[in-house]
Amino acid sequence: MTDRRVYLDHAATTHLSPAAAQAWASAAAQVGNPSSLHTSGRQARRLVEESRESVADDLGVRPSEVVFTSGGTEADNLAVKGFAWRGGSAGRVLASPIEHHAVLDAVLWLEEQGHKVDWIPVDALGRVDVNYVRAHLDDDVAVCTVMWANNEIGTVQPIHQIAQACLDAGVPFHSDAVQALGAIPLDCAIPGLTSAALSGHKIGAPVGVGALILDRDAEPVPLQHGGGQEREVRSGTVDAASIAAFAVAVHEAVEHQVEAAEHMRLLRDRLIDGIVDLAPEAVVNGDRVDRLPGNVHVTFPGCEGDALLMLLDAAGVECSTGSACTSGIPEPSHVLLAMGVDARTARGSLRFSLSRTSTDADIDRVLDVLPAALGRAARASSPRLRSRV
Ligand code: PLP
Repeated sequence: MTDRRVYLDHAATTHLSPAAAQAWASAAAQVGNPSSLHTSGRQARRLVEESRESVADDLGVRPSEVVFTSGGTEADNLAVKGFAWRGGSAGRVLASPIEHHAVLDAVLWLEEQGHKVDWIPVDALGRVDVNYVRAHLDDDVAVCTVMWANNEIGTVQPIHQIAQACLDAGVPFHSDAVQALGAIPLDCAIPGLTSAALSGHKIGAPVGVGALILDRDAEPVPLQHGGGQEREVRSGTVDAASIAAFAVAVHEAVEHQVEAAEHMRLLRDRLIDGIVDLAPEAVVNGDRVDRLPGNVHVTFPGCEGDALLMLLDAAGVECSTGSACTSGIPEPSHVLLAMGVDARTARGSLRFSLSRTSTDADIDRVLDVLPAALGRAARASSPRLRSRV
């Protein structure tokens, strides 16, 4: 066995791209606040505006529609809360129950504040019910939010259909596209899509930068007030170096999307087939067709996902359960629960997430160490055997 660690948690964060790191380092070496009027300030401003143009060009939108943020969480909060607030205290929110916590918790908070929320049902593969969306886009809906692709199970949503329904009803539509960027074609200019959240550290930029792609006519209420640096909807000194790195990473992600997706898809399918061969009782979650090319999400009945994760980690393979862990207590995934999976089964799940840097050797290693880890995890969660120790 080699000491090389196999990193298969790219949906959580991925390696810094060398080109993005270089862009960051060269910009960070320069002084200058992009809002300052002197030469250094104007140079920083130029870098930000060139980065904005580059991101806009890569995503098929106008430069004015790129609002830089501190990441996906801020972009999601700005859209979801900002549109809900714009609709007034009676503004209803239509949301899928399988959103990332960046959206989910914002919606739950709005509900606590008195906003009515309609949770859109999802089926057993995690696909939202478009007919439900169409039937519930009433006049009082302030925002509809459905993620482009799910971060746990990888299911890709029918975004074009939902956007069209929202366009017909005149309702702002927000989509969390954090996991979609670089993995599947991402057309941010589709009619009816009002905003989309992006995060840098999922595509090779540093942590702490992202963007809200925001229709030029949309005006969410800002989350925080200050200098209004980003189109008056986002305040705070603009981080020119991170934005420069973000633009480079977005360009790489979009430029290499097709071959990266093909590469990941082959590895993903080999891993899924290998797991099912080793453990025929394993259940592959999510849509097998409309699925992120780098996502493998599997439930192993009779095993605790967290135990399995730690056993694999000890064997040099890094992956995730995909769901949140609150105060050290593993929680069953809200995504699997919404799909109708019971809490006990939901706890037995693992996510392997690939990137364009993943290799056949990574997959070989997982398949090599998995049987022993599964055997130990099953013994650890068997009450009869546990009572002997
Ligand atoms: N949305 C999704 C789907 C994500 O996977 C993540 C990160 O895990 C986020 C939002 C949050 O992005 P950030 O870490 O940039 O705040």
